[in-house]
Amino acid sequence: MRVVVAGGAGFLGSHLCDRLLERGDEVVAIDNLLTGRLDNIARLFGNERFSFQHHDVSSFVHVPGPVDAVLHFASPASPRDYLEMPIQTLKVGSLGTHNLLGLAKDKGARFLLASTSEVYGDPQVHPQPEEYWGHVNPVGPRGVYDEAKRFAEAMAMAYHRFHGVEVRIARIFNTYGPRLRPGDGRVVSNFLCQAVAGKPLTIFGDGSQTRSFCYVDDEVAGLLALLGSSTVGPMNIGNPNELTVRGLAELVLEVTGSTSELVHEPLPLDDPTKRRPDITLARRALGWEPRTELRVGLARTAEWLGSLLSTP
Ligand code: UDP
Repeated sequence: MRVVVAGGAGFLGSHLCDRLLERGDEVVAIDNLLTGRLDNIARLFGNERFSFQHHDVSSFVHVPGPVDAVLHFASPASPRDYLEMPIQTLKVGSLGTHNLLGLAKDKGARFLLASTSEVYGDPQVHPQPEEYWGHVNPVGPRGVYDEAKRFAEAMAMAYHRFHGVEVRIARIFNTYGPRLRPGDGRVVSNFLCQAVAGKPLTIFGDGSQTRSFCYVDDEVAGLLALLGSSTVGPMNIGNPNELTVRGLAELVLEVTGSTSELVHEPLPLDDPTKRRPDITLARRALGWEPRTELRVGLARTAEWLGSLLSTP
């Protein structure tokens, strides 16, 4: 297959590029490097099946030659990033999705959308099945991301129904692993960096809010299984193992052997109180489920981060 990966220099995008190249595909990565990093794909430049376009997919996307699949993984994904870049976040979710769907239609390619658990907002149904329509504040600070992704899902379904584009929609829950950008503001990245540096771990609010964290290798396996399947989705791809943010902080201290203290900072506006995927559909349709225990995944991520931070 010849696959276009938008956001190919990002956290998930770069892991997707790796897996696709490993299985023998040709990859065209596109990234504007706003939150993506060339370091993530540096070692792929020697591979003749890999090419890179430094481009913002919110503007017209041109890829010469045949394309079998278009994977849309371009977007700021950390709440802090999309609060700092609200317009770019809205544009890449809306205009970017439109452009990449246009590319998929033109090439007769399959289209995989990286949607998100954020479409459920601060959920009133728990755990969240795909049938749940969500509870989103469109004008709150997170609305730029949530509504862009909701629009992206609607646009993908319109291209599927009206133009017959083969669409797959993944709703990705919190994912972590090597290549999380240090200091990107997300909780695993923050806690691990803080623990490794011996600084206090910053718990927002009282830490009773929950999340469910999926290790990146599991996530990518699920995404590629969805891409190859006959299910349009939307489909939750995440790990249903739920814990509180305080529980995560304590686990990070244990895994890293850090003696950092835990401090509290104000809870950001509209921070969801709980989040856990119902993955019945993914289990049934893909035979997929996450395998990596949080403790193991955190240790691998900490090891990667430690070597990154100690590199001059
Ligand atoms: N959080 C925290 N300390 C941090 C960063 C985040 O307590 O240093 C909390 C945040 O308030 C949220 C959870 O951790 O409740 C997950 O935040 P993240 O930014 O990773 O992603 P979200 O799931 O909110 O999109």
